[in-house]
Amino acid sequence: MNGKNHDTVCLVCNQRTVKGITIFSSLICQHCEKDITEINLSNQQYDDILNQLKKIEIYK
Ligand SMILES: [Zn+2]
Repeated sequence: MNGKNHDTVCLVCNQRTVKGITIFSSLICQHCEKDITEINLSNQQYDDILNQLKKIEIYK
């Protein structure tokens, strides 16, 4: 067990990931990061991801 290594699970897709971006100490994998950056505001998927991002506040 590595005490410093806790699970790195993507906030959006809940998949374990090694690389990704960290937002407010939560991890988003590269795949979802790409999704987010490519999403238009009018895209309904944006709402889904926004809802996931809201979890960040609850996390703390
Ligand atoms: Zn993801």
